[in-house]
Amino acid sequence: MVFFIILKIKYLSFFMIAFVFKFYIVTFFFTFIVINYSIAENSDILLNEILPGVLVYNGQNEEQNQTNQGAIANKVAIIGSEAILVYDTGPSKKFAENFIKQVQKYSENPIKYLVVSHRHFDHAYGIEAYIQNKTIIYMDKTEYFYFKKEGPLINKLLIKNFGFNENNIDFSNISEKNINFINDKLEVNLGNRKVLIENIGIAHTKGDLIVYDFNTKTYIMGDLLFQGRAAAFSDSDIPLWINVLKNKLVLPWNFLIPGHGIAIKNDSALEDTKNWLYFIDKSLKRAISQGDMISEIFQYPIPKEVEHLKMKSLTLRQGIKKQLNLYKKKYIE
Ligand SMILES: [Zn+2]
Repeated sequence: MVFFIILKIKYLSFFMIAFVFKFYIVTFFFTFIVINYSIAENSDILLNEILPGVLVYNGQNEEQNQTNQGAIANKVAIIGSEAILVYDTGPSKKFAENFIKQVQKYSENPIKYLVVSHRHFDHAYGIEAYIQNKTIIYMDKTEYFYFKKEGPLINKLLIKNFGFNENNIDFSNISEKNINFINDKLEVNLGNRKVLIENIGIAHTKGDLIVYDFNTKTYIMGDLLFQGRAAAFSDSDIPLWINVLKNKLVLPWNFLIPGHGIAIKNDSALEDTKNWLYFIDKSLKRAISQGDMISEIFQYPIPKEVEHLKMKSLTLRQGIKKQLNLYKKKYIE
């Protein structure tokens, strides 16, 4: 009898524990769903003030898909006592509108300037929101030309193949009169805050714009710099890009904000991006001298110094064919 009671208690406690455990699992599950839902709802507008008056939306190092809707690159807002400068728009009008709303929660100063680093969708397809906002928009002239020329087709592919929203961007709402072309450099004052906008020339694209914030000694570099992942190079001039990274960051800097990845205090991402580009450059020259095909380039050993970078094979697949043709034209014909 005693044994039976003990057994019963044991069973009872087992069921009690099982019940409590189940309760916890169910609670955890619902909490998880609710938390995830709210993160998903707000993920496109989460800003971090990484330095005084420097707000960053940190895009994830991943490929565009239906969930992220292309919000994979970094966007930056620099807040002065009178005005705000935004660097890059994000992948859609909707994203840009959300971004503007979040920035204005932080400061009600007007967003006076927008710098579009280059034409790629993850940096430039939110321009419409800034045209509506009456912001002064800077971009490279050739980049704007390709933005308008290639944009509608690229946008169709993003909608069809990657599940982007239909109303991502309407190119007919964007015209040359909305854009200020910048060839060289320009200093603007945001109120107790001087910022340099510079066209660094042909590198990642036909004309990449960078920004330097004098207050925090920070370079905002767009896709001239990739942190933690392989740099995308399909529209690039690789030797000129290497030259920019080696010779054109002439002002003293404490921080570098890349187009993809996190802001850094040292030159590790600079070295990573350079080493990756050296590898691509060497591989293309080797393929030409050996008469190798693209499939053979994929078999070339990856150097140790770039082994840790994410998205290497995807980035190679995206860019190598176009670059091999360019290199053939340059080095054979
Ligand atoms: Zn890019």
